[in-house]
Amino acid sequence: MINNFILSFYTTQFIILMEYINIIYTRKQVYNNNTLDTLYKQALLSNFINLWLLGPLAYYVAVEYLSSVPFPVIISAPGMIAAQGIIYNEGHKYLHNSELYWIHKFHHTFNNTSFVLPISANAVSIQEFVLLYILPILSGVCLFRPSENVLITTTMMISIANITIHSPILYNIKYPEFMVSPQKHLDHHNKSIKSHYSAPIIDTQYLLDKLKKPNNHTEPIKKID
Ligand SMILES: [Zn+2]
Ligand SMILES: [Zn+2]
Repeated sequence: MINNFILSFYTTQFIILMEYINIIYTRKQVYNNNTLDTLYKQALLSNFINLWLLGPLAYYVAVEYLSSVPFPVIISAPGMIAAQGIIYNEGHKYLHNSELYWIHKFHHTFNNTSFVLPISANAVSIQEFVLLYILPILSGVCLFRPSENVLITTTMMISIANITIHSPILYNIKYPEFMVSPQKHLDHHNKSIKSHYSAPIIDTQYLLDKLKKPNNHTEPIKKID
């Protein structure tokens, strides 16, 4: 039973630490601020519901599906990360481009006017938490049969990466192109919500585009006479 809350506990600790560092560094007054106070109270409430109620419940379900003969770590660990990355990317893109955008709208109330801080990483609607946070991991469990240790480790990696891509203090850190950098995800919130759908570790869209066009050289601009 205690394992159900391990991820919630460490995720919450990391959010508090990163929130504190980001607020000091960026000097954003979002708490006890007349215009933003309500939004940040909603963020606190949704963090509580998602991390301390839905998360442990999902963990309970995931453990039920764990096989007594798990796949080797070399298959299950990358498999879990890949399943999460692909399903999140496709689901996120779908929510942005369909009439179901209302599910994702709350997460985008954190933008350049209300600011994006680590607490916004899990400030999503219940529907979004189930569809884009829980379902990709449960799918990974069914497909790649991780051990409980691999399940905890990969979910924690996803959770930590999710918090770091919502940290403005990391905006200028350079990541390899195949990864989702804080810059890419913060630009998704602040500049162009129709770009950079992948999150939080592997830039699945970048890899899929590379697979489609392996020699994607930029065409020279033709001169018009
Ligand atoms: Zn986000
Ligand atoms: Zn989005």
